[in-house]
Amino acid sequence: MMFYQDRFVAKEEVHLSPDDRGYYFGDGVYEVFRIYGGSIFEKEAHLRRLERSAREVRIDLPYSIQEIDDIIRKLILTEGTVDGTLYLQITRGAAPRAHPFPADAKPILLAYCTEVSRPISTITSGIRVITYEDIRWLRCDIKTLNLLPNVLAKQTALDRGAAEVILHRGDLVTECSASNLMMVKDGVLYTHPANHLILHGVTRAVVLRLAKAAGIAVEETPFTTQALGEADEVFITGTTVEITPVIEIDGKPVASGQPGRITRRLQTSFDKAILG
Ligand code: PLP
Repeated sequence: MMFYQDRFVAKEEVHLSPDDRGYYFGDGVYEVFRIYGGSIFEKEAHLRRLERSAREVRIDLPYSIQEIDDIIRKLILTEGTVDGTLYLQITRGAAPRAHPFPADAKPILLAYCTEVSRPISTITSGIRVITYEDIRWLRCDIKTLNLLPNVLAKQTALDRGAAEVILHRGDLVTECSASNLMMVKDGVLYTHPANHLILHGVTRAVVLRLAKAAGIAVEETPFTTQALGEADEVFITGTTVEITPVIEIDGKPVASGQPGRITRRLQTSFDKAILG
């Protein structure tokens, strides 16, 4: 079942308009929520980010946050999703193709759940990644449907036998195609500051909170690709990847080529946070 434009309907009954501005312009915003044990992890943080993304691109939410929360709850209950994700997008609406905001199109909300298990094997053994120039626009803090640079980056990684890309603008590392990046050097956890150049990841915020609670020093500061190459530990964070160690970058092992000690500590704290 899906929620589409005011109704709960079977997927086969969803008839999208070819005039949806999501198609023409990627003119919309989205969220991916994680469901553990039938409940959404960090729901309020995701809803806050959705509200902010919509505001930044001047889309009026078609429902109140309370109503969106009710829609989400009903989808999970009806589907009986235990472990999975909930995808939700809001486009500016359907109108004949023209760049200006349409005068009277109503924003369209689409949402549905998918059963997905935790990525245990990559969390345990880590992933190989490549570096890739960050060619995105300068508002990466907005979770918009315009994901073509991310799609191209991710596919390049897969074509080269890697699982993800580490994006950099010139010398400075930003994040990944669908996750945030953190590295550890001499016991300090480094990650790019939450400004316009990265998505303000919900998982990123949780991990920083857990690190501080565990007495790990945290520096939200940009670092270079060279510093990344000399890191003791590297890992990515995201709603679906959780905390995934990076064991190789551009064919070179990260330190010993094994997931690091601080990464493992944070994974343990993260497990406690999600499993309660
Ligand atoms: N950065 C990008 C570009 C993303 O697409 C995502 C998630 O999809 C993230 C970071 C991680 O954000 P979150 O932890 O909220 O899933």
